[in-house]
Amino acid sequence: MAFKTLNDLGDVAGKVALIRVDLNVPYADGRVSDDMRLRAIIPTVRELANRHAKILLLAHFGRPKGAKHSEMSLSMIVDPLQRLLEQEIMFVPEIYGPVVAQSIDILGNGDVAVLENTRFYPGEEENDPELAAAVAAHGDFYVNDAFSAAHRAHMSTEGLAHILPAYAGRSMEAELKALEAALGNPRHPVAAVVGGAKVSTKLDVLTNLVTKVDHLIIGGGMANTFLAARGIDVGNSLCEHDLADTALAILDAAHAANCTVHLPYDAVTAREFRANPPVRTVNVHEVAADEMILDVGPAAVEALADVLKICRTLVWNGPLGAFEIPPFDAATVALARTAAALTKEGSLVSVAGGGDTVAALAHAGVAQDFSFVSTAGGAFLEWMEGKPLPGVLALG
Ligand code: ADP
Ligand code: MG
Repeated sequence: MAFKTLNDLGDVAGKVALIRVDLNVPYADGRVSDDMRLRAIIPTVRELANRHAKILLLAHFGRPKGAKHSEMSLSMIVDPLQRLLEQEIMFVPEIYGPVVAQSIDILGNGDVAVLENTRFYPGEEENDPELAAAVAAHGDFYVNDAFSAAHRAHMSTEGLAHILPAYAGRSMEAELKALEAALGNPRHPVAAVVGGAKVSTKLDVLTNLVTKVDHLIIGGGMANTFLAARGIDVGNSLCEHDLADTALAILDAAHAANCTVHLPYDAVTAREFRANPPVRTVNVHEVAADEMILDVGPAAVEALADVLKICRTLVWNGPLGAFEIPPFDAATVALARTAAALTKEGSLVSVAGGGDTVAALAHAGVAQDFSFVSTAGGAFLEWMEGKPLPGVLALG
């Protein structure tokens, strides 16, 4: 998809930039426990500050549902953000009106202000055109640097882009380019790894991927549903037996689309769901009635590594096993390391996303070796489902 970037902006000195960013960081007891999202917006803010724009940052924080809640004020994020930016930041307790106008008068070129939580206003989530017009009146142009909020058609993620000249920020641009390289216009063969607990949460992902990828690797709890649908007794494993027909339909669709589906043929099982219980490594046909499949087996992992070796592109969502509990992290860690090594060698473009997936890759120590790891959560999954993202469409 074509979209404008900061490269398409002319001289912005003295112009007011309304930048939608993601400031929705985990915050407790006066501190930000993970500042990844804050660090992600620094390149865009710094670039526009260096280009002497006046910068107004727009973001939501928590779920105040259209009312002012002081414990969800973005004023709390100003200090952590200004320390990362190494520049003083003004806080403005409104998102439009005279207070905002006066603040802009005070701001010098290259100065930065954070406006209040957009979700304090009911018109944010309603994407109210009147609110959008009131906010847009303060800006000369709009930049969206919050891919993670792009699956929502809200005032600050979508509405503003229809009123002001709209551009993707650097973080948004990097995310869109990585996703385009992974599924939009990828080098083939393409492999997808889909794991995690349940088929029911990833039906749309699976249905979309079978038409796009050459190899679909299914692991995690959801593989059990596919195995059971094929008549394999998965014992006491997590399994959605009522989705057997759905699983078979996905396998049929894959077959029709020339997509090879890889289900595990061996598994690591246990009778108890706890750290380091007695385990067995068995063929999937040999799971006992009181056992649970908690990880993909080592023989299957080796075969999956061979699949990745012939592929040029990989997109990964969902761990292959219950990776939080040793030793059921083994398959995820091994395959992630293979993907990382192939990426380093230059033979594979690897893109991964999803809350637990990011945690699993960090646990394997390879997150920085993937081509791109998306921290966008919901927006990443909707993109994997093939759904248009309103915040991205509005930039086109
Ligand atoms: P993501 O957050 O990356 O989208 P999911 O939330 O879909 O991933 O899946 C992660 C969860 O799946 C983890 O909590 C993991 O323990 C669980 N899981 C993976 N394999 C199994 C399994 N065989 N049995 C039970 N749970 C599993
Ligand atoms: Mg999850």
